Amino acid sequence: MAIFRFQAETLLQAGLRGPSGVSRLSFAASLPRRPRPRQRHLSTVVDHPSVPARAPTAPSLPAGAPAEAVTADSQIGIRRQENARRILREAVDAKAPRHNWTREEIVAIYYQPLMELSYQAASIHRRFHNPAEVQLCTLMNIKTGGCTEDCSYCAQSTRYQKGTGLEAKRVESVESVLAAARVARDKGSTRFCMGAAWRDMRGRRNALKNIKEMVQGVRALGMESCVTLGMIDDEQARELKDAGLTAYNHNLDTSREFYPSIISTRTYDERLKTLSHVRDAGINVCSGGILGLGESAEDRIGLLHTVSTLPSHPESFPVNALVPIKGTPLGDRPPVDFTSMLRTIATARLVMPATIIRIAAGRKTMSEEKQALCFMAGANAIFTGEKMLTTECNGWDEDAALFGRWGLEPMKSFEKKDALAGEA
Ligand code: SF4
Repeated sequence: MAIFRFQAETLLQAGLRGPSGVSRLSFAASLPRRPRPRQRHLSTVVDHPSVPARAPTAPSLPAGAPAEAVTADSQIGIRRQENARRILREAVDAKAPRHNWTREEIVAIYYQPLMELSYQAASIHRRFHNPAEVQLCTLMNIKTGGCTEDCSYCAQSTRYQKGTGLEAKRVESVESVLAAARVARDKGSTRFCMGAAWRDMRGRRNALKNIKEMVQGVRALGMESCVTLGMIDDEQARELKDAGLTAYNHNLDTSREFYPSIISTRTYDERLKTLSHVRDAGINVCSGGILGLGESAEDRIGLLHTVSTLPSHPESFPVNALVPIKGTPLGDRPPVDFTSMLRTIATARLVMPATIIRIAAGRKTMSEEKQALCFMAGANAIFTGEKMLTTECNGWDEDAALFGRWGLEPMKSFEKKDALAGEA
């Protein structure tokens, strides 16, 4: 059965039709799904193999297979590669973002040889963005710890408090947040993001009032303002929009299939619902993922497929590398392979050409050369400052020196305001 599925998927990637001429999608739907056990604890997390250098190829035939079978086998391989090259060419030639990506098309792009993928992503990056510009963003925790959710990677969940030892704090005052925003602006950040560790905004009228003051204060400093407050409804989104909010961050984290292995206290659809409230209110959506959770390449592709087929692409797509925190269920995860990070960024650039791609958590562990490769392949924003929520962050001075060495310059505020206006 597993071999049948693998062969069938290979045919799908080759752009061929399934048995009896059924369409690719209906054929895909008819395939038996691989069982995906819920993986809650390290001892049960399966370490998926790292991304292969090339797309999976047709299974090799046994020695002594008939000549016709060998010919058919290599024909399938040739057609698959031609098809993948065509898909990549069309993606690179795009003049506007598109929303009708199929999962097979993203598979074809994702599995291109990495150097070619990075080069083509760099090419389209130059059409939609100034490649020298990188946005500097600072993220402040305005409410630390005490969260009722069970995100397996997060130090701020009460469930893991015993192991992490992180103490919950009250919401920061408006004055202290604006003082931090002023420091960030003076150091060169143009976007200030405020994060609160809680599930949603229900019953938080007072907190919302203060957060709206924070948003207004950040805007008055001439900065873009962003918040990440868990789930919000349509009315709360409208209120934040009226206060002048530029962007709302709510990450999807991973694929729909792998998501229940990481979080059980709210669903993927609830996350998508919050994104639709944000979008409908006219606030920019910031939504991305975390790599290194124990997901497979298929899950990274699944995440890319979900965000690139939303009614409009996120204005911002953060790519995080898991920072394992002792005491959390993922506290012992090995670091994600850098090539997976680069491949994800390059594919994101190709399927969402106008979006700002943000290297988020985990940048501290990346060498300067690795960061430069990410910028080359289409990343154009970073978090900078003293801290990124509960994890270490590269500081402003360090980043200023990096920019100087590599010929990069900070993006100005609101420069990308109309980036997605021309979406097809
Ligand atoms: S990621 Fe956010 S929602 Fe999840 S536990 Fe941490 S603070 Fe709570």
